[in-house]
Amino acid sequence: MLKNDQLDAWDRENFFHPSTHLAEFARGNLPQRIITGGSGCHIEDRDGNRLLDAFAGLYCVNVGYGRPEIAEAIAAQAKELAYYHAYVGHGTEASITLAKMILDRAPDNMSKVYYGLSGSDANETNIKLVWYYNNILGRPEKKKIISRWRGYHGSGLMTGSLTGLGLFHRKFDLPLSQVVHTEAPYYFRRDNLDQTEEQFVAHCVAELEALIAREGADTIAAFIGEPALGTGGLVPPPEGYWTAIQAVLDRHDILLIADEVVTGFGRLGSMFGSDHCGIRPDIITIAKGLTSAYAPLSGSILSDKVWKILEQGTDENGAIGHGWTYSAHPIGAAAGVANLKLLDDLKLVQNAADTGAYFKQALMDAVGDHPNVGEVRGEGLLCAVEFVEDRTDRVYFDPAQTVGAKINAALLNRKIISRAMPEGDILGFAPPFCLSREEADEIAGKLKEAVAEVLG
Ligand code: PMP
Repeated sequence: MLKNDQLDAWDRENFFHPSTHLAEFARGNLPQRIITGGSGCHIEDRDGNRLLDAFAGLYCVNVGYGRPEIAEAIAAQAKELAYYHAYVGHGTEASITLAKMILDRAPDNMSKVYYGLSGSDANETNIKLVWYYNNILGRPEKKKIISRWRGYHGSGLMTGSLTGLGLFHRKFDLPLSQVVHTEAPYYFRRDNLDQTEEQFVAHCVAELEALIAREGADTIAAFIGEPALGTGGLVPPPEGYWTAIQAVLDRHDILLIADEVVTGFGRLGSMFGSDHCGIRPDIITIAKGLTSAYAPLSGSILSDKVWKILEQGTDENGAIGHGWTYSAHPIGAAAGVANLKLLDDLKLVQNAADTGAYFKQALMDAVGDHPNVGEVRGEGLLCAVEFVEDRTDRVYFDPAQTVGAKINAALLNRKIISRAMPEGDILGFAPPFCLSREEADEIAGKLKEAVAEVLG
């Protein structure tokens, strides 16, 4: 075992941490957190702290930490065959079985699974396939992608462009020109406070229509959205939003990509967010919950409609020119099979629905009446508390006060991990699906204390 001092020094000297303030880390102003173990909803650090992880890592460890069933499946696969590629028709029992299991659970019109490693690369695949699709159909000009402000779709060049958060664009020369953004379905943050939810949905639809008219429907290939906004604020869609948006897209022959990296496999309390929210997507992105992050694996699920056209293209062009070395990696696939079995055996999606509803109510009871709580919202085990300076007139705090980050830190001092979302004073909660009611109460109780400490 390395001494702590040695590990800390190597960490600062050698390790470029993602999404981290580089200068502050190098100066030693950020705590080094070295995580050593996990079980159920808890993780442990090297100092012996046991923390309740109410964000399931990055909302991905859905079945909870320390599941021997998945660890054993990974070990067995590694011993038998750690790797073979999936090019030119190759596969393994795990990758084939998993594709069948995914399609058995996905919405009815879905037909094929393409495997990747991360949510970002799966969305890159989706955009390439949408372009390929329109080239086969003889519509080379129909290529732009509509995404929503506050959407999150990854950190690549195209997917970082689709992401509608300034932090992911500034200083990276993004977004790329093929991406256009439209209004987020974020009722709490609507410009016009007098609008009802129904009027706000009509406004989102009108904004989309205006964007399509401006750009020209024959230049737009697809619309991408998360069934419930994730990193942009953890916001369930307003009633009727998706039906109305889908109708516009259908009318203009624009494909719909449902990015279910967060919502896929149970986060909203249904197996897929698309079914939960009444979406009929042409392509679905999956990642995190596919393996509960026990191994990296993602996927693009293609509808029958898209697949039929892609097949025609390969007749003209030979093999499709798109492949990753690690596509359908056997270890990831073995983890996926064991993970989906565990979700079923332990009825964890049902628990996400039931304990999710209980948890949201507990959060409301704990802080819902606080004068600085603008909204407590959630669906299944995806919940958020949004803080404002004045809730009657919905005045936001000055971002320089970092209220969300301070409450997040006060909660961490109480051994609860939440996530301060990147834009706004929004505290996110997305615990593992094995969360118990006692743990839900504990999070809510500690949140009440943390809010009182920071805001009085
Ligand atoms: N889409 C959504 C909805 C996500 O939340 C994320 C990651 N948080 C991604 C895509 C990107 O996934 P990854 O970080 O695995 O590339």
